[in-house]
Amino acid sequence: MAAQTEESDCAREQTKAEQDVDQVRQRAARDQQRLDSGAVTSPKDLENLQREIASLAKRQGDLEDIVLEVMERRESAQERVAELTERVGAVQGKVDDATARRDAAFEQIDGEVASVTKEREVIAAAIPADLLKLYDKLREQQGGIGAAKLYQRTCQGCRQELSITDINEIRSAAPDTVVRCENCRRILVRTAESGL
Ligand SMILES: [Zn+2]
Repeated sequence: MAAQTEESDCAREQTKAEQDVDQVRQRAARDQQRLDSGAVTSPKDLENLQREIASLAKRQGDLEDIVLEVMERRESAQERVAELTERVGAVQGKVDDATARRDAAFEQIDGEVASVTKEREVIAAAIPADLLKLYDKLREQQGGIGAAKLYQRTCQGCRQELSITDINEIRSAAPDTVVRCENCRRILVRTAESGL
């Protein structure tokens, strides 16, 4: 945008400089016409007129240099605009690509959430209400994990190895007894790998 502003500023400057050149040129042409017409006869007036024509020629040259200088600046501004426009296009392409990939990922995640939620509903429906209530309470207290696997005598919720006394208690507990970690209080899930 800054390059575009610079370009249009240069364009305005160029128009102004060209108008200045035009004015000086017209004035010089008028003077020249008067000189050629023979209407001016006084030597002093003739000298003044010639001096003005010479000074206007010099002024025109200076103004034309300004026009050229402005045109050069305008040209490099145009090149910069073209280069930046191309870069904007390339970056926009990357943004579009990333957006499309993000949207596809969102869609996939939404699908997974829906299927996991459904799965959880089915499982939750089969669990006794009081146990589910305990689980939900623990889950809220323990950073989203209410139950953990007991793996090789270690609670996978808090990563603490259980004491021999606790292991012995769990070992003698009935299979449907809800056992808890003494350290983090999470429900412990016994498996063949629990080390019991
Ligand atoms: Zn624990």
